[in-house]
Amino acid sequence: MTSGIGSTVLGYPRIGPRRELKRAVESYWAGRTDRDALLATAARLRADTWRDLREAGLDSVPSNTFSFYDQVLDTAALVGAIPARYRQDHEVDTLFAAARGTGSLAPLELTKWFDTNYHYLVPEIDETTTFALTGDKPLAEHREARAQGVPTRPVVLGPVTFLLLAKGVDPLSRLDELVEVYADLLRGLADEGVEWVQLDEPAFAADRSERELVALERAYTRLAAQSARPQLLVTGYYGDLGRALGVLAGTAVDALAVDLVAGSEEGLAEVTALRGKILVAGLVDGRNVWRTDLRAALARAEALRPLAREVVVSTSSTLLHVPYDLDQEQGLGEEVRDRLAFARQKVHEVVLLGRALAEGPTEEWEAEADRPRPAPRHDGAVRSRLTGLQPDARTRAPYADRVAAQSDLGLPRLATTTIGSFPQTTEIRTARAALRSGELDLDGYAERMRTEIGRVIALQEDIGLDVLVHGEPERNDMVQYFAEHLDGVAGTELGWVQSYGSRCVRPPILHGDVTRPEPITVPWTTHARSLTTRQVKGMLTGPVTILAWSFVRDDQPLRATADQVALALRDEIADLEAAGTRVIQVDEPALRELLPLREADREDYLDWSVSAFRLATGGAAAGTQVHTHLCYSEFGEVIEAIDALDADVTTIEAARSKMEVLADLSAAGFARGVGPGVYDIHSPRVPGEEELVALIAEASRAVPGDRLWVNPDCGLKTRAYAEVEPALRALVAAAKRVRETT
Ligand code: GLN
Ligand code: ZN
Repeated sequence: MTSGIGSTVLGYPRIGPRRELKRAVESYWAGRTDRDALLATAARLRADTWRDLREAGLDSVPSNTFSFYDQVLDTAALVGAIPARYRQDHEVDTLFAAARGTGSLAPLELTKWFDTNYHYLVPEIDETTTFALTGDKPLAEHREARAQGVPTRPVVLGPVTFLLLAKGVDPLSRLDELVEVYADLLRGLADEGVEWVQLDEPAFAADRSERELVALERAYTRLAAQSARPQLLVTGYYGDLGRALGVLAGTAVDALAVDLVAGSEEGLAEVTALRGKILVAGLVDGRNVWRTDLRAALARAEALRPLAREVVVSTSSTLLHVPYDLDQEQGLGEEVRDRLAFARQKVHEVVLLGRALAEGPTEEWEAEADRPRPAPRHDGAVRSRLTGLQPDARTRAPYADRVAAQSDLGLPRLATTTIGSFPQTTEIRTARAALRSGELDLDGYAERMRTEIGRVIALQEDIGLDVLVHGEPERNDMVQYFAEHLDGVAGTELGWVQSYGSRCVRPPILHGDVTRPEPITVPWTTHARSLTTRQVKGMLTGPVTILAWSFVRDDQPLRATADQVALALRDEIADLEAAGTRVIQVDEPALRELLPLREADREDYLDWSVSAFRLATGGAAAGTQVHTHLCYSEFGEVIEAIDALDADVTTIEAARSKMEVLADLSAAGFARGVGPGVYDIHSPRVPGEEELVALIAEASRAVPGDRLWVNPDCGLKTRAYAEVEPALRALVAAAKRVRETT
């Protein structure tokens, strides 16, 4: 190894290979274990990670990648930015109070981390915030690792991204103060003998204003000028750094990491200041689960050499977003497994590439590079169907004709409905667990689900809702459920990825051509319909959301995969119609989350995502009422796309934003059915009839009653019946009152 940092990864999962941290944290929250037990589990997980990374042969092992809840929250704690109201005697309790709230305090706001499925806690910066180095986590973890014989490179969220993620009046205006705290931190790390520190600035993979770029320059000019400091590696992943790369290269930082998976080499040669730096080449995909093409990656790394003082190999981003270890998976077929690499395997790829770059290809490198990579599942039928699509396949009859064709649905003005799921009770979960363990056979399980559907239908009739749902008891998760029923998609046993705090998800793997072997939802919906004379909504998850919450094959454009999924859903819709279903909802809660960070990439994204939704729904008869559901109310850049989905009814979140969304929608020319959620299901609070009347009346001033729907703002599966039942009764009563008076 030279003066550089050598092969490395930018971050690592922390929840534990078997979600040990989740269990430890939840058991601590529930009061079943004490703080010492929690701290001990955390220390063990950190030690295991450092040992594994060291033994795998990484030249530079990151530390401070552990977190009890979230790295943004940890950074707030480090720099004195946790609001005083959350303060507890012990630091970990302060973190949990800020993350989860206390009996009387609401938690910090939780929001999505860039274009990933991870969520962070939004720092609050206001006049009461006094930045100071109030924590020592990066230092403490470095010491802890060193005591185990592993020198590490602490990873800390950079000051500019921290402020850009914060809320408050112009947080960026506090940059100079905050940067002095980072300077203190660097001094402390240098005193401790830390050689390298990594500061992450992923906010610069998105479009940034001139002022923000100036802030970046100012911050790193100051930090690099710090006399006693470790060498500085600055990263900006999830895409190209764009102009920020030149800005950073112009400062005296020592190394820059670039994402060569979501981003590319384009423009690197023009940044001549890079030639004096160490370039950390993110060639191994940190966010997806595919094996790296080692030959191609090595060639790319070699081609970068003239552009920098030294090139080292790394992952494109932190490995936080991929599962721990492919070797833990028993159930994956070889044709899929041999194409995959999880975090542990990616570390190995980085090590092999680093060695090959330094010393030329080794035998081990050759063997791994030549290890056969099975071709993805190929389905000629779905491919020729897609190439042979009629020009009007994505276009339904004009809206006015559809309204006429749907008039026999017999729906009142201000029709009431729900978003799909009803509470997932203990009985439902028990039945699913029993099915998994083999205690219950498929028939027995189906019988229990049918009973549950019967209960939910009877309840909705009693409450007096207009369009009923079957309640989704058979679905563990709205994406995983469909993934399990499609060919070309695989599930994992232990492929957990942190979503936020102790919450983890197991994203399905969309690995090959996607087809639907048989109808998925039809038997459940048909059973529900047989129990009532009212309309029952069929309930599907849309193509964009299925892609957004899965690991998607990277050997073809997302557009192609989305269209294959869309065809499967199109067939499902046709089968639902054939069985007599007249109202069908296709959920797209993730439409906005997949929106590219760079403006320049958005048009293409919105084009393929809207096209896929329209391919899924475009075959529906004029008389079929197509609903869609979106989980947020700040539409911003996607408002036109929502209109372009051309759904007959769009249900959205609005309770928390007080119906403002309706004005935005009409301003954008949206003139079809809309159901602004009037009941905030994210809170256990049961809304009163009067407040619902007020909300519905307000909505009915913005939208005519024949286009206005009354519904909760999302699915009810996380709520309890004790809340849901009175809330829905109030909702139906309120709709009725507004109907009678307007
Ligand atoms: N139909 C789904 C449900 O009700 C929609 C969930 C969502 O939008 N996230 O659970
Ligand atoms: Zn929702």
